[in-house]
Amino acid sequence: MTLQSKRSRDAAAEFSVVMDFYESYMADRDKGDVVSDFTFGNPHEMPLPGLVDALRTHIEPQTTDWFAYKTNEAEPREVIAKALSGELNLPFEPEDISMTQGAFGAISLAFSLLGDAGDEVLIPVPGWFCYGSMLKAKNMVPVKVLLDPDTFDLDLGAIEAAITPRTRMIVVNTPHNPTGRIYSPERLQQLADLLTRKSDEIGSRIFILSDEPYRRIRFDGLEFHSPAEFYPWTVIDYSFGKVLLAPGLRLGYLALCPNIPEADRMALRELTVSTQMALGWNFPDATMQYSVPDLEALTIDIAALQTRRDRLLGALRQWGYEITEPEGTFYLWGRAPGGDSLKFSEALASRGVRVMPGTLFEQPGHFRVCLTATAEMIEAALPAFQEFAPG
Ligand code: PLP
Repeated sequence: MTLQSKRSRDAAAEFSVVMDFYESYMADRDKGDVVSDFTFGNPHEMPLPGLVDALRTHIEPQTTDWFAYKTNEAEPREVIAKALSGELNLPFEPEDISMTQGAFGAISLAFSLLGDAGDEVLIPVPGWFCYGSMLKAKNMVPVKVLLDPDTFDLDLGAIEAAITPRTRMIVVNTPHNPTGRIYSPERLQQLADLLTRKSDEIGSRIFILSDEPYRRIRFDGLEFHSPAEFYPWTVIDYSFGKVLLAPGLRLGYLALCPNIPEADRMALRELTVSTQMALGWNFPDATMQYSVPDLEALTIDIAALQTRRDRLLGALRQWGYEITEPEGTFYLWGRAPGGDSLKFSEALASRGVRVMPGTLFEQPGHFRVCLTATAEMIEAALPAFQEFAPG
């Protein structure tokens, strides 16, 4: 007889490939065997000075209730609603913004706010490797939908085929981890039309969760469009962890699309604080909330990131690798030479180069490189990439 809950076991099973990889990577790192670290989206250089200044400033108490319980504080909500309205050209109100522990917290809030046990949520494959276990931990049902295998665009036929009367939500991640794709307005409009038609057909509303933590990390001056521009029944999650490259400082939000019909939007607003409380107080810490006005416009050096992308993309392509050119995010996604990403990533690891095998994304023929590595790590890794290049 097990003492563990079924949903915890199910969530763990869903996450086990990532956990196994994480443990072996950490062991190698502790031994000093990882020279070029292209695994998780972690920083490898000192934090932005502006970030450190903001934390220093705002940790200093100014009132007796400085460190009292904080829910959705007025100032960060106002700052975010204004900035988001400008970015997406939609009139967000401060009350549409729920402050969360990063995008993780916002995704968890969205699942709990909109879904019940047994509800199905469409998630992309390849895609970020936590949606499935987060859903299982809530007794919800992840339904994996393949992206177009060549372009990694949304495959509307596959989405339509996956919708059932239990479908409650689809997760759209743009710019997309791991492929770096940014979806076009045309495709998002087609998705909106499809979801409108299918919602009518099944007699209940299918929501979009637009997972946008990489929204500001784009290359070549490319535009971004949120599904919220095309489909009213959208909630957006965001994280400051990517644009500040500080994922250990948990700050993010969930935004309700202002085009959700008024009565529905008010009904959702009414439940956010109690849902956040019930999730274990998933509001950001007080200091993080006070820092939002200083952090809102702060960003890592995207031009430097693009230089690293171009350097690695150029070198890999020159040696015959098939790589999807990332339009945003800090990832590079390609086909593993020989088609076996585990074998390929082990070969690289033997030279001190750690990438993520596509098995973590249910795509065993591919691999992901994280560009938060330093320029020096990239240079040091090039001989190994050349050594193991396709035939
Ligand atoms: N969504 C995607 C697509 C991600 O890649 C990540 C982090 O890697 C998250 C959400 C979670 O972001 P955070 O850790 O900042 O909450």
